[in-house]
Amino acid sequence: MRFLWTFLRIRTAVNSGQYRRALHQKSGETELLQHLRSQLKAAGPITVADYMREVLTNPTAGYYMHKDVFGTQGDFITSPEISQMFGELLGVWCVNEWMLGGSPRSMQVVELGPGRGTLAQDMLRVFQQFPMMQDVVSLHLVEVSPKMAAMQEERLTGVIEDDKRKNAASGGDIVYKKRKTKAGVPISWYSDIHDVPQEFSCYIAHEFLDALPVHKFQRTPQGWREVLVDVDDGEGPHHLRFVLSPTPTAACKGFIQAGEKRDHLEVCPRAGVLVQHLADRIVEHGGAALLADYGHDGTKTDTLRGFRNHQLHEVLQEPGSADLTADVDFSYLRHMCAGKDKAVTHGPITQREFLENMAIELRLQVLQRNADESQRKDLLSGYDMLTNPDKMGDRFKFFSITRQRTPPKGSRTPSEPAGFYRLEFQ
Ligand code: SAH
Repeated sequence: MRFLWTFLRIRTAVNSGQYRRALHQKSGETELLQHLRSQLKAAGPITVADYMREVLTNPTAGYYMHKDVFGTQGDFITSPEISQMFGELLGVWCVNEWMLGGSPRSMQVVELGPGRGTLAQDMLRVFQQFPMMQDVVSLHLVEVSPKMAAMQEERLTGVIEDDKRKNAASGGDIVYKKRKTKAGVPISWYSDIHDVPQEFSCYIAHEFLDALPVHKFQRTPQGWREVLVDVDDGEGPHHLRFVLSPTPTAACKGFIQAGEKRDHLEVCPRAGVLVQHLADRIVEHGGAALLADYGHDGTKTDTLRGFRNHQLHEVLQEPGSADLTADVDFSYLRHMCAGKDKAVTHGPITQREFLENMAIELRLQVLQRNADESQRKDLLSGYDMLTNPDKMGDRFKFFSITRQRTPPKGSRTPSEPAGFYRLEFQ
């Protein structure tokens, strides 16, 4: 009997929660967690899209807003930071589109989410090599983070001027900063693509779409339900947890296409609205868009993940301290552009195909000729990182939007944009 009593007492201790909590310490607190917790306690669970938006771009505590997140000291590294060849080939792509568009007197290069400004810098260097592009290009940067905007300014102009408006996301002027590069190219900064003037433009978005908020949906025996984020005062590892909406939400009704086969789904409506807006601009005012990101063609399901110090990080752990990212569903982007009569989408094709079609090997050879031994090594390892199918070559995809165009009779120029077919060199 005494034995049984001891046994029961042990069981009670295990189930009391105290014992478990000692085993599973909850993850740390952050400023953003405190903000989210009071919001969730007052108004109930929020969508994953709202959670992602808060985590990445909350004006005071969002991940992107106040620190440099790139490079070996940061959380991740991107292609433009790996090799100058990447930005240079995208610059060549813009020059080609400008020529196909009849070489207009002015061209806006619009970059969405320019990070450290490295890609823009490498593209601008290419434009300088073309005398006929003198005074043609202006640069338009869509950037929500004041920290990133300051880094871009320093990289592109060489200085950071004192800014009256410290926080790009907090409203105010449509153009929140105007400067000139060292070579005299005008640069304007915006928080929103809708504020960029409607003119002939090349739109570039590299690793931008994966940062836009996704809704997550789960198929259940009762039908589709949306995944939401709620507080977790129980025994879970974090202060937040995922829950399912008890009934279909408005997003379930609006964003899931009939005939969907997957059981779990991520939809990024902001990316859908963005590509429609780009298609409208391109049809109306000319130009083209090049969107590059990791992604899939409507096959993947649960891709939302966090990154900190180049390691995977749990999505609900210490919000605001790590990057959140979801693979881009290019089939959804194509679907969203399908109703735009005069616009055409191209791809997705892999980064390796795109860069090889843009003759990256030739660029490598030319750069190597003028390089010393250690630069040559760097160029080669950058080339390998960008194009190797086991590294970034196959995971990253390129997708483009242009006007519908028919090549002139007898012309050998395909109607696809450069990079989407093999260039022939004599
Ligand atoms: N294109 C760069 C940076 C990618 S990181 C590169 O490849 O290196 C994502 C960039 O998008 C950052 O500059 C971030 O501050 C910006 N960003 C994220 N969400 C944004 C939003 N909603 N609007 C504008 N910029 C955003």
